[in-house]
Amino acid sequence: MVYHGIGVSCGVAVGPLYCYEPFMPEPLCAEHSEDISGQTALYQSAKRAAREELARVCEHLDEDKASIFQAHMEILDDEVIDEEILAGIKGEQWTAQWAVEQVYENCRAVLGSVPDALIREREADLFDVKLRLLRILQGMPERGLCCLEQSVIVAAKELLPSDTATMDKANVLGIVTEMGGATSHSAILAKSWGIPAVLGVANLMQIARCGEMAVLDAEAGTLETQPTPEQLAVAKAARGAWQKQMKEATAWIDKEPLTKDGVRIDLGLNIGGAADEELAAARYAGFVGLLRTEFLYMNANHFPTEDEQVEQYKKVLRTFDSRPVVLRTLDIGGDKTLRYFRAPREDNPLLGSRALRLCFENPEIFLTQLRAALRAAVHGNLWLMFPMASSIEDVCRAKTFVETARSQLAQKGVQAGRVKIGAMIEVPSLALMAPELTREVDFASIGTNDLCQYLTAADRMNPAVAPYHQNWHPALFRLVGMAAQAFEQAGKPLCVCGELGGDDRAVPILVGLGLRRLSMNASRLAPVKQALASMTLAQMQSLAERVLKCVSEAEVRAVLCDEAGKGGYEDV
Ligand code: PEP
Ligand code: MG
Repeated sequence: MVYHGIGVSCGVAVGPLYCYEPFMPEPLCAEHSEDISGQTALYQSAKRAAREELARVCEHLDEDKASIFQAHMEILDDEVIDEEILAGIKGEQWTAQWAVEQVYENCRAVLGSVPDALIREREADLFDVKLRLLRILQGMPERGLCCLEQSVIVAAKELLPSDTATMDKANVLGIVTEMGGATSHSAILAKSWGIPAVLGVANLMQIARCGEMAVLDAEAGTLETQPTPEQLAVAKAARGAWQKQMKEATAWIDKEPLTKDGVRIDLGLNIGGAADEELAAARYAGFVGLLRTEFLYMNANHFPTEDEQVEQYKKVLRTFDSRPVVLRTLDIGGDKTLRYFRAPREDNPLLGSRALRLCFENPEIFLTQLRAALRAAVHGNLWLMFPMASSIEDVCRAKTFVETARSQLAQKGVQAGRVKIGAMIEVPSLALMAPELTREVDFASIGTNDLCQYLTAADRMNPAVAPYHQNWHPALFRLVGMAAQAFEQAGKPLCVCGELGGDDRAVPILVGLGLRRLSMNASRLAPVKQALASMTLAQMQSLAERVLKCVSEAEVRAVLCDEAGKGGYEDV
């Protein structure tokens, strides 16, 4: 059977499906048992099994990520919790399950009401440990993503950034989900890892069978289950061809980023943190165009302290030396959540208190990050960038926070470095104010993922509206062109750091529109260098002019096909 979704990234995966369904117990009711020693033994053995699982998980993770699970072991060993559970089993004749439920929930309620944010953060850990114990008590196997036993295609309803943060990537052949669109965060991560992914497959979790062989084709956007031996052979050949093509493209990785007539385009790297694997491509890029700092927060089990952040930022800055590192301030909200922070409940979170707005509402979180960034700036060339600004006032307000953070450091006699200040252009209202924006910032970067989402009013995560979320909408190129003109006139740098900036087919249009800086995932550097070398600047400019006259996305695609026919593109 062949099922259709949205193909993101590229390539073909062949392997068994692994259905990732995070355990969520049915609501429990009070349960009693007179078999006190039996229930005590059940609880003790569940605790032992939980500890063994956690130890196994830690073995597969680096130190930072393992610390999350080490904290869970500490909770398992907490004497007060342990005594209360045993007292409940003995005194109240609770079953082991009910005792775990009651005691952990009571602890969470107590922690949830404590004013100290650091203590409150432990609430999410308690919830995780409780679920682990209940799952074991109900005899259910672990279905995590952090230590997979074999190479698999992961099938899930939805993969949240917090799921992917601890995912055992070496064993993931492909990703297929029910939710999510081409620029959702799962898609961005899949692309940056070079893993084939198909998102938005309707009813996937009813279709997918754990262990069943499947073929995932990210180009065609299909999942094929129960393939025949012939289909399997074809898929394996396609996978081999794709792997060969990837290898060939990598020949471009250490080339200069020049158009056919030698115009230099600065290429930057989008990274999610300071881990060595993130920084591995540093020598092939001219700068970091997007340091998504939210991953530092999402990988932790508490808000990273100022010192912890300084260490991470410093590592990136030192790696890039005098080359700019664009540090985007915390961008959470929408599908990016923190397990230890309860964001306000909203009907439309993507239109709500996200990113900069959330930082304005939580000044201490924002100021801690800004102080860390300013301290780290002493060690390199740091450019600070605000996400989701929707007005000039937002940008000015964010700048006052930077000044507050600077004076807080000065009061303590702590050295702060010089930084450039910029904004992400990802809300149409700010894009339209680009000429005025140039007066308030040193630079800007266009986030085409969100810009497209807000411009077309189509949720980037929702497959049902994927046909409306048009990445190639002429309106998007017109806005990008307007912003490029404003920044060129002001003589200030403008970059594109959304997915479009790493799309080798879109790159000639962006350069033709006036962009001279593009930032992308490491896996896109080689294909983009190859695409740049395939056309002259004049050819790219005439292509951009044609695109600006288009009335629909279909027409933009037709223009690209026409260009491909002339040999400007390999294929579209
Ligand atoms: C964007 O919106 O284009 C962007 C780069 O930010 P993110 O994808 O992290 O929202
Ligand atoms: Mg964005």
